[in-house]
Amino acid sequence: MNCEKCEIKLSHEEVFRHGGHNYCEDCYVDIVSVPKTCDPMKVRSAKLTREKFNQKGVEGLLPVQKKLYKYLEENGKATRDEIAAEFKLDPKELEKHFAVLRHCELVRGFKQDDQVYLTLMDTCSK
Ligand SMILES: [Zn+2]
Repeated sequence: MNCEKCEIKLSHEEVFRHGGHNYCEDCYVDIVSVPKTCDPMKVRSAKLTREKFNQKGVEGLLPVQKKLYKYLEENGKATRDEIAAEFKLDPKELEKHFAVLRHCELVRGFKQDDQVYLTLMDTCSK
């Protein structure tokens, strides 16, 4: 399987799925860290659900997701590896939680010095 964007060859575990496409981690992060190309329907529906239940900030998140949020709040930024080590989470598991945090517009990914970091959205409501 190849990344659909940069066409790098991927092994099964390296595939990041987004919007029905398969990407390598770099392209995936590029895509999800740009709000315009992020799945607007998912962001919208996550937002609407949260508005409906009057959930703000980290309300309505799983305990582990709140911990991830707090960790990023305290550390400013962290790589997936750091977070996986800190929380002893499987990278796939971690990615699921970050997908939720991203769709709630709490966390975003960004690239710095060839490293991919996760950080809190500047616009997050606390
Ligand atoms: Zn790629």
